[in-house]
Amino acid sequence: MSVIAADIATSLRCPGCQAPVQERPNKYLCNQCQAIYPVVAGIPVFIHEPRSAFTIKECANGLTAAASSSPAPRRWRDCLPSISGNHGSEANFEEFAQLLLSTSPRPRVLVLGGRILGTGMEAFVKHAEIELVETDVCPGPRVKMICDAHDVPFADGTFDGVIIQAVLEHVCDPWRCVEEIHRVLKPQGLVYAETPFIQQVHGGAWDFTRFTDLGHRRLFRRFEQVSRGACCGPGMALAWSFQYFLLSLTENKWLRGCIRIGTELTTFWLKNVDHFLMHTRGTQDAASGFYFIGRRSDIILSDRDLIKEWRGII
Ligand SMILES: [Zn+2]
Repeated sequence: MSVIAADIATSLRCPGCQAPVQERPNKYLCNQCQAIYPVVAGIPVFIHEPRSAFTIKECANGLTAAASSSPAPRRWRDCLPSISGNHGSEANFEEFAQLLLSTSPRPRVLVLGGRILGTGMEAFVKHAEIELVETDVCPGPRVKMICDAHDVPFADGTFDGVIIQAVLEHVCDPWRCVEEIHRVLKPQGLVYAETPFIQQVHGGAWDFTRFTDLGHRRLFRRFEQVSRGACCGPGMALAWSFQYFLLSLTENKWLRGCIRIGTELTTFWLKNVDHFLMHTRGTQDAASGFYFIGRRSDIILSDRDLIKEWRGII
């Protein structure tokens, strides 16, 4: 039995051919292309393998393993101060919530890459009127569906909002994913995105792309801008750069562990400097990450107009 609510189930579509799917015991069937999408531990796996870097089998195995394992114990390293600091997300999510609630009394929001609660989302998820459909390619405590952001298994115009936080750097084709976000949003639907600019490789092999402020704006060129700016500042970027500079000096596991601990203990304060830098012009050139809140539009921002939106310093 799937955990997908009945009202949203009518908007489910085959991620391969976009035809409606039918629920059967422990699976969904596409009547058009005959694809089968299993339901594992109550979580449907909507992966279109020909266009995905993931297979249904590995996603299903991940769900089975997660269902039978206990939560990972807290590591002592988690007690160290973090070198990362997001100074925008909490206020941005509140702005996003108010925008959603001004368009619908019960907005429906798709979360892509939402296996755990994103930074700054604690208050957002307490808005009981906002219905969340939390998805990811990997299992996690909040996941209600496994799907790939390159092929979102929902009909056109299903959602009032989409959240994609710290995900677009980890997808193979971020432009394709944003096309999908545009497709599944209602005509005036809203998107909230956060994506890094200066941040070293994280997530191993699953890390592909970075965006400048304008590069990020261009990614969402089919959206009218509500607001955009830095969410993680130059201090965080410097701390990450210092840590990874030292890490580049050795492959020794023990030394690398010492470097991580040492740099976290000595550079964690840099993120606090970002409090004073978030709205400076210099930060537009040096931020660790940017956010964008936009409204779905049929007008495409031209590259000529895009250039006029540059806010850095020569
Ligand atoms: Zn199909």
